[in-house]
Amino acid sequence: MFKRLLNECKIDLTLRPEGALLIKSGLAQVSGVDMAWVTVDRNGAKEVYLPGSSLKGTIRSHAERIARTLNEFAACNTLGGKRDKQRSCGSALDDMKTKKKQVDLSTPTVYQHSCPLCRLFGNTWIMGRLATEDAYAVGEAPKPQQRDGVGIDRFTGGASRGAKFELEVITGGQFKTALHLQNFELWQLGLVGFVLQDLRDGLVRMGSGKSRGLGKVVAEIGDLTLHYIGAKEKIVEDDHLNLLGAGALFAEAEKYGMVKDDRLQVPKGEATIKDSMANLRQTLTFSFEAFPWKEIAPKWVSYAQTFKDRLDQYRGGGD
Ligand SMILES: [Zn+2]
Repeated sequence: MFKRLLNECKIDLTLRPEGALLIKSGLAQVSGVDMAWVTVDRNGAKEVYLPGSSLKGTIRSHAERIARTLNEFAACNTLGGKRDKQRSCGSALDDMKTKKKQVDLSTPTVYQHSCPLCRLFGNTWIMGRLATEDAYAVGEAPKPQQRDGVGIDRFTGGASRGAKFELEVITGGQFKTALHLQNFELWQLGLVGFVLQDLRDGLVRMGSGKSRGLGKVVAEIGDLTLHYIGAKEKIVEDDHLNLLGAGALFAEAEKYGMVKDDRLQVPKGEATIKDSMANLRQTLTFSFEAFPWKEIAPKWVSYAQTFKDRLDQYRGGGD
């Protein structure tokens, strides 16, 4: 989206499955079971891991649920068909392109027209602001287990009703990963905060078979590191921090329809300041508990509540 990195929030996470977890691999038959865990060859051994794309999907669908409690238009329906009034931004933009031949769907226009969820997670027209690393097992290895998949039709879409097949789940173990939020607006950080809290409280399920009780995961949230690169102003002042969103850092923010002068003054609290190279790179580290969520959360809530859909004429009711 932007050619330059202006701000970044890196969030360290450790995910602990509680009970059984199944992350399907497309080529599972090779291992002799019908649905197996994804594996990677690492240091000469086969290892199960949690793909970053799978984690991102989980975070997105949870964020969609949070968004819809505030405003039904704050999250498009990525699975919705042409007649869905919440049809996805990606397909609504395709439609806009077809109907308005002259429209210039450059990144700023796409960002401005997309729903808040697409602005954070991306769609077929723009990259998202949030990236997830693959999560690798650390410490005691997770244990693979084969289970009988009778009656699992609810998550295979009904095709194998009555059929018996094997699936491979894992139990135990822990997976280390990190989220990266780059060139973010403050409301985006706020939304991520709500998802993190639910992950920490074990309210988010991952992978397949959720309706059968699989997929419970509890996250331990490590450090949150905020980087500001080349900001003109000081992020840290005597007793407070000036947190800045992309709208306050980026000359063309207005073209993107970003929050103007996106800033928040919060008490310094227990942040660890690594003011490395004057203003060229300013770095702050927080624990999850010490992060100013109380101040940032309302940025997201009011953003979602006041969001006005600009693609409404291209969603729903199509043929
Ligand atoms: Zn959308």
